[in-house]
Amino acid sequence: MHPEPHITLKTHLLKVARKIDHLLSEVIFLQRDSVVRICSACEAPCCKRVQYLFDEKDLIFAKVLRRNGVPRRKHKGRGCPFLSPTGCILTPKARPFVCHRYLCSNLKEEMARQDPELPEMMSEKIRMLEDLRGRLWQEYLQV
Ligand code: SF4
Ligand code: SF4
Repeated sequence: MHPEPHITLKTHLLKVARKIDHLLSEVIFLQRDSVVRICSACEAPCCKRVQYLFDEKDLIFAKVLRRNGVPRRKHKGRGCPFLSPTGCILTPKARPFVCHRYLCSNLKEEMARQDPELPEMMSEKIRMLEDLRGRLWQEYLQV
């Protein structure tokens, strides 16, 4: 007996979301030490120069993995609404993808000091994540 087409599509969607989740864990781990060192001392943090950053793929990712959806927060002044005096209030995996993807030159330099191969390794994983997010979007359109 063949499974219902919509069940197969949902299974594909879940598989892609899980791959993204796994790869995201690696990306978060690989940059964690450098972020702790360099971003805490940053004089012009990127989080103070942006607005609400979630896009539709972030929303689908959170929905498929049954997380609590994408958070909403009233904006108070300049910068990202999730920035607090002690840093980002969201857990790493609840953050918009762009927050993981954005590596300023200082952060890249710090990563290279930690391990010369780290920036390229990160770029490769980010590229893979972008492809997977594209697949997630395509699968979602078919469900
Ligand atoms: S990523 Fe770069 S610009 Fe953003 S807080 Fe870290 S050091 Fe500053
Ligand atoms: S969600 Fe967090 S990490 Fe991303 S811009 Fe906002 S405060 Fe910064």
